[in-house]
Order: sequence, then C-alpha cells, then structure tokens
Amino acid sequence: MAHDDATLIIRDVRPWGGDPSDVGVAGDRIVWVRPTQDGTTTEAEVVDGRGLLALPGLVNTHAHADKSWWGLPWQSYGGEGGTQGRIAHERARRDELGIPSAPVAERVLREYLRTGTTRVRTHVDVDLGVGLRGIDAVREAAAALDGAIELTVVAFPQDGVLRRPGVLELLDRAAAAGAEHVGGLDPALIDRDPVGQLDGLFRIAAEHGCGLDIHLHEPGDLGAFEIELILDRVERDGIAPGKVNVAHGFAVVDVDAARRRDLLDRMGALGVTMTTVAPVRMRQLPLAEMDATGVRFGFGTDGIRDLWSPYGDGDLLGIAWQYARAGGVVRDEDLRRVVEIATRDGAPFVTDEVHDLVPGARADVVLLDAENPMDALVRRVPRAVVVAGGRVVDLAALAARPWE
Ligand SMILES: [Zn+2]
Repeated sequence: MAHDDATLIIRDVRPWGGDPSDVGVAGDRIVWVRPTQDGTTTEAEVVDGRGLLALPGLVNTHAHADKSWWGLPWQSYGGEGGTQGRIAHERARRDELGIPSAPVAERVLREYLRTGTTRVRTHVDVDLGVGLRGIDAVREAAAALDGAIELTVVAFPQDGVLRRPGVLELLDRAAAAGAEHVGGLDPALIDRDPVGQLDGLFRIAAEHGCGLDIHLHEPGDLGAFEIELILDRVERDGIAPGKVNVAHGFAVVDVDAARRRDLLDRMGALGVTMTTVAPVRMRQLPLAEMDATGVRFGFGTDGIRDLWSPYGDGDLLGIAWQYARAGGVVRDEDLRRVVEIATRDGAPFVTDEVHDLVPGARADVVLLDAENPMDALVRRVPRAVVVAGGRVVDLAALAARPWE
C-alpha cells in the first residue's frame, strides 16, 4: 500500500525504543513504519508522538470482565474467606450489583482500554444461576466499544462442574454457541473428582474444537498431579499447541526443581501454556525456565475490584511490573522480555494475528513518555496516547471516576 493511503499517521514515535519513526494506519491496520520525516503535508489525521516510546497494545490474558463492581459505590469485603467462601459470597450479592450485565462489563473494558489494553481473554462465569447470560453481556460490552478491544471468551464454571449437575451441559452449550474456550476450576478441591472434571472438559473440547483454560490453584503434589492429568489428555487427543492453558498453576513453583523441570519440559513440548496474575504473596513463574522449556505464558489482571477482593485496577502494565518486581527481574534483556510478554507475545492468547508495530498488524499502539521498554515497565508510566483498532482513543472521556 502506498504511503499516501494512510488515513492516520502516528508521527515521531520510537517503536520499542528504537529510532524516531512514523507509523501509517489505514482502517484498523498498520500499513507502514518509516523513519520520521519532517515537514511533509498529508490529508491524513496526524497524532504528534513527540518522540514518545511506542509499544503494541497491552494484552490481558486472564480477566474476569463480567463481575467487577468498578464504577459502583464502594463495596465492603464481606462473607467468608477461601475459594468456597468467596464463591458463596459472590452468588449471594451479585444480583443486587447487576452482575453480570453489559454495563458492568463495559465499565471494566473501558478501564482496560484507558490503560492501553487492546486485547483481552476474559473468563466469564457460567453456572446454574446465570446460565450463559454473562457471555452475552461481555460480548455486548465489547461491541459497544466498537472494536477497540478484541475479546476472546472462556466459559468459566466458577461454582464447580461435576458438583453442580447441569454445568457440564451449560459449558457444552457455550462451546456450541461460539465460546472460544471452556474453563475448569480446581478439579480436586472443588469437584473432588479431578479425573471426572477433566474428562468432561476434554470431551467438550474434542467435540467442538474449542480451547481449554483451567484455573488451577491447587498446590504442590496435588496440583502437579492434575497438570500431569491435563498433559496426558492433551497428548492422547493430539490437541494443537496453544489450545490448552493452565491459569495460575501454583504447583509449578511449589514442587522441587527437578519435578518442575519435568513438568515444564512436557508442557513446552505439548504447547500447553500458562497465565499468571503475578500473585504478590507467592513465588513467581520462573522467567528463564519458562523460556528455556518453551512454555509460553501471559499476564492477567484476574478480577478487579470484585466480590472476591477490593484490589486490582485493570492496568496490565502494573501486573507486569508486579511480576518483575516480585520475581527479582533486573537485567535489561529480562525486563524487556517482560514487556514483550505483556504485549506482543501475549497476543496468541487472544488472536492468531501478529500483534506488533509492523505493517499488516492491527493498529494497536500505546505511547508512553519513557526512555525505553525497561523504563516504561519499572515506572509503570501513564499511557499518553492509545490507538486501538486504528482509532485514537479519547482517554479523557474514559477517565471517569471509578465510583460514579
Ligand atoms: Zn481468575
């Protein structure tokens, strides 16, 4: 495409901290990247990048966009602790907060977008109370943003699978209706039947060709055993790399080094991925080991300001910072790697497309007043400009108070 075909030019930015460049956009695509040229006139809309750092849009690979109280008055932490306590509390109070609904989900997506996230994999609760309503709500919310955020959905059995007869059928219906992934939850501690839950989920995946994304909080040997059960089934069914994800997977950091290496080697070989929310009170996924074994992983915000916890603000760069800080990441190449995982290399959790500042990619561009990617990460620099799907986002309009 000729230079003149650009309808939007992002001028004088430094992609990944490199040389000053202009980025041409037509429709929702980047059509060229070239050295900055002064004084040229153009019919296109121009964003003056003022020499800012440019990165691809952030990618949130583990969200719960359906069930935050972001934008509502403060909600006190109530109910009991622990997974079961939080599940019960959420089910007792979600109706009065309008959860799930499109307006709730839209407030969350808008906050992701305001902080530069343009691609999101969100788990959405599917249970006997709400059925598949939550999936409709988040899709409607994404549609209201008119393509600024690309969304992929995990139909998530937050309340358990086998212990709630009828949920497996709901998950099957969700997959038939187009949910890209089916989720699972602590097959041993919630359902008390790991083989049964996993067999049910893999049966749905085999039938519909959907992905699986399984929340696994279970620690140590128990969690490692369940990861092995998952790997056995991926191998048996010949599931393609990238289709099965373990969310959290705390067991990977719990077990001893030799067993971790065995697990990661096998996960890497089978293309089973992981997502982490960089939990502050636990050890972090080991960056060098993950890369050495080829286990791809992504960062996620998890739920933000919801009936599980008042914490979380939707800024994926903040999660990447938390991961780096808590994991003792200090060297340039490792800090940069964390930024790559938060942007370019997280994208396969949402899309098959290239997600980078290159011609042909969707025009998802974040500008930050930072020297380089490492500097942007360690300072969690505010987002100066966000271009999503080829359009400049009105950040001021999105900066609504979170308690209106
Ligand atoms: Zn989660």
